[in-house]
Amino acid sequence: MSISLDTPVIQLPGVGEARSKKLEKLGLTRCGDLLAYYPRDYEDRRQMYTIRQAPLEGRVCIRAMAAEHPRKARIRKGLELVQLKVVDHTGALHLTFFNQGYVEKALRAGEEYIFFGTVEEQGRRRSMVNPIFERVGKQDFTVCIMPIYRLTAGISNHLLASLTRQCLPCAAQMADSLPPSVRQRYRLASSEFALQAIHFPPDEESLDLARRRLAFEELFYLSAGLTFLKGRRETLGAGCAIPTPPWDDFAALLPFQPTDAQRRVMKEVAFDMASGRPMNRLVQGDVGSGKTAVAAYAAFLSARAGYQTALMAPTEVLAEQHYRSLSALLAPAGIRVGLLTGALTPKEKRGLHQALAEGTIDLAVGTQALLSQGVSFHRLALIVADEQHRFGVAQRAALAGKSETGGMPPPHVLVMSATPIPRTLALIIYGDLDVSVIDQLPPGRTPVETYVVREDKRQRMYNFVRRQVAEGRQVYIVCPAVEENPDAALPGEESPALNLKAVKTYAQQLQTQVFPELTVGVLHGKMRPREKEAVMAAFGRGDIQVLVSTTVIEVGVDVPNASLMIVENADRFGLSQLHQLRGRVGRGKHQSYCVLITATRNVEAMGRLRTLASTTDGFRISEEDLKLRGPGDFFGNRQHGLPQMKLADLTGDMRLLRQAQQAARELLEEDPTLSRVENAPVRERVRRLFADTPDIFN
Ligand code: ADP
Ligand code: MG
Repeated sequence: MSISLDTPVIQLPGVGEARSKKLEKLGLTRCGDLLAYYPRDYEDRRQMYTIRQAPLEGRVCIRAMAAEHPRKARIRKGLELVQLKVVDHTGALHLTFFNQGYVEKALRAGEEYIFFGTVEEQGRRRSMVNPIFERVGKQDFTVCIMPIYRLTAGISNHLLASLTRQCLPCAAQMADSLPPSVRQRYRLASSEFALQAIHFPPDEESLDLARRRLAFEELFYLSAGLTFLKGRRETLGAGCAIPTPPWDDFAALLPFQPTDAQRRVMKEVAFDMASGRPMNRLVQGDVGSGKTAVAAYAAFLSARAGYQTALMAPTEVLAEQHYRSLSALLAPAGIRVGLLTGALTPKEKRGLHQALAEGTIDLAVGTQALLSQGVSFHRLALIVADEQHRFGVAQRAALAGKSETGGMPPPHVLVMSATPIPRTLALIIYGDLDVSVIDQLPPGRTPVETYVVREDKRQRMYNFVRRQVAEGRQVYIVCPAVEENPDAALPGEESPALNLKAVKTYAQQLQTQVFPELTVGVLHGKMRPREKEAVMAAFGRGDIQVLVSTTVIEVGVDVPNASLMIVENADRFGLSQLHQLRGRVGRGKHQSYCVLITATRNVEAMGRLRTLASTTDGFRISEEDLKLRGPGDFFGNRQHGLPQMKLADLTGDMRLLRQAQQAARELLEEDPTLSRVENAPVRERVRRLFADTPDIFN
């Protein structure tokens, strides 16, 4: 059978209905997909041992001869053994295969094989259970560098490796997506070589060449795509030129003196908005650095000039809070603020839509609901996206499209994020954004004291909660799960997670058994928007003293009177996430605390928690997080709204990133629309990488 890139995997030998379904789960439907499914790791099986010298640690290759015919025995129903002895010049090795009856015929006395498995030793007798074996001279998966793939239930690594091996010849059919001139200039391997070597590298050098080529191409498409986004913005034409009123007009509204950093960023924003070009700015600032004031200032400028602003938050809870604080701040200036969330009744919703369309609301605060059809604005000039890491590039594009109706110029876009990434990196990857950093916290903040504690301190911790409440403070308790569900195993875990504190049951238990004298509230994502609002409002007013919650309060929530954050099963959370959670306290004038409870015995997990306890510097924490989790995870879950990279390390290899950027720039100078025939593969790859932004080439 001849295989092409488009051959469905089901046509490969050994793949039936069931397996093809499972492969589909991994995104593997055609042979070309298998080639594009790079290994996550490799196992070096090149070292060969004699039976006597083979170490007892790890799996090893041994070359030996079958000294006898395999013996098959049926121990009981469902348990069949095949056993035999193999030998080399140093000794004998006893092999046992469980439930692999075919081995009886597959191994022939007198033939030489490579056996790959773990050697065990009792006295001087050496043995191996269920080794992989191949005839000498016919090795595919022994005495090699073996690829290790991400798997799913029912698909073994061996199967995936052998399927991929069968598809390797089609690597030659794939048109090289990098132009020859680029390959030459940056000394990159051909696509055919790279694909073969990334799966089955003959040696380390080849693997390095393959990796470099494939990482380069990812960065190249990323850069090209970002250049298109940026170019599209430049062709947007003029934006509304919004004049900057005297600073004191806004300063008079603020209940505090802005920090120098806030003031600097506000100036940058005002400058952008007055420039007559559409602003597209990212404001990065650690939790608590006061990003909301910057958003308020931008909305103020827009309203002053008679325009509307849409402010989007990632959660209902946050939208509701922004609504309350921004109305309080801006109402004295006569600015009309409206809230659009899923909690509105159809009638309220219609009323609000009408007000937005007629222009009787100046600032609309909401969630994704602001993006929905049916919402149109009268004179929309500014879009603010808070906590941007939850918004994708595509959503930004959709929002920007909002104003194109109604003959308004393209809107200014202000994006705010607390997820810190090193500035140089931000400038590169957010190729289509300008970046401001608020690198200073408001004065008078004492850093949150953070403690890692074990279960045995639980009672002391509850006492601490009582003392804080007695002093008039409020407390968050965050848990990883909503309901106690003993059958639900967490991702990456075999046994059900029985000891996870589940929000509902735990809140009930706290209220009835631990804090009967206090008011305990519950908040989680599965509640209806109205209920969530009511709970947050009650907590904001101080009617609830202890709020038991899931991570719905992770971003943005601001209740300055809360001084204690307790995180249950803290080892379940990522470092950056814990830092975000901790940012919910220490927002007022009171000394604040964060208690991380864990029962983990895992040394690494403890190390992570200690890191968090030792610093409050968001940049350091995110760097640490990057190191621990790897950029795949960090960027993989689209925290930054960027396309996913398979191989390229956006934080590690700045040099490769720069080269790829330069190469993309040069290519686009020659062929700005990528419409030349020879650049069709590049265009196709950019389109695929930016599948979230369907109109990338428009
Ligand atoms: P974040 O950057 O996390 O969004 P917020 O905008 O929610 O931070 O601000 C955190 C808290 O600090 C709020 O209670 C806010 O009112 C207060 N705040 C912001 N700027 C200042 C300042 N310059 N001086 C004093 N308090 C401030
Ligand atoms: Mg915020």
